[in-house]
Amino acid sequence: MREYDVTYSLGDGLRPGCLADASDPAQFAELRTLGELVQRAREAGVQVMVEGPGHIPLNEVAANMEMERRVCDDAPFYVLGPLVTDAFPGYDHITSAIGATEAARAGAAMLCYVTPKEHVGLPKPEDVKAGCIAYKIAAHAGDLARGIASARTWDDDLSRARAALNWPRQFELAFDGDTARALHDEDLPVDTDFCAMCGHDWCSMRISKEIAEFASGKDVGFQPARRAARSPLVAGSDLALLGRRGDKADCHSDRVADPDAARELQRSAISRLSEAPAG
Ligand code: SF4
Repeated sequence: MREYDVTYSLGDGLRPGCLADASDPAQFAELRTLGELVQRAREAGVQVMVEGPGHIPLNEVAANMEMERRVCDDAPFYVLGPLVTDAFPGYDHITSAIGATEAARAGAAMLCYVTPKEHVGLPKPEDVKAGCIAYKIAAHAGDLARGIASARTWDDDLSRARAALNWPRQFELAFDGDTARALHDEDLPVDTDFCAMCGHDWCSMRISKEIAEFASGKDVGFQPARRAARSPLVAGSDLALLGRRGDKADCHSDRVADPDAARELQRSAISRLSEAPAG
């Protein structure tokens, strides 16, 4: 096996098939045997990974991961779920993804996906898709909980697009953007600055954006009508003073009607300044 670089996958025939079996003496006795087989494989120079339990209550998942790590000397542990409840046949991609998320957080090396047809029949392509997506979510949530920085960047980017109410960018970043876009477009066009969940008047994202824009001083409703207008408070003796001082100097580019000539005037003024001796 070593010569062909084969990896042993050590299955567990006594793994729990329902919550009533979880963490029982038979399961742990078998785990100890698996630990011995891990050592024998390694002594023979063969890589090895270990299969984990299938049904475990949520509060026991982390302890099971920890025990495997200890007994099997950190051999990669791959888990089928585990399902955290037995009472929802037809939804076992969800019951198992909950356990898989906790297993990933607690150090499982690989997650084996479960479809909605688990325990009730053979999956069709759409069942496989539902199972795979549930497990992509579980694996990503586990990576986030373990503090993997590159995993978190994805979430933060999507949150920024959401805060900016940039729907196309959100769908571009989303894991399944086609589904997200279809669900959004069912209610509203893509260029609205709110969605149908809270509606226009109660969209906290839209309202926060408006407040931020207003606080920045750039709200269009509060811009001066004419940027170059003289202040209305300049009057009487101020006007007389301005009259004595004469008009603006010719170096003011806003006195030049032609935009290219104005830019040339600005450029020459800047170059004169930069060439002037210091001090
Ligand atoms: S309407 Fe509600 S759910 Fe939709 S973008 Fe605004 S805050 Fe978010």
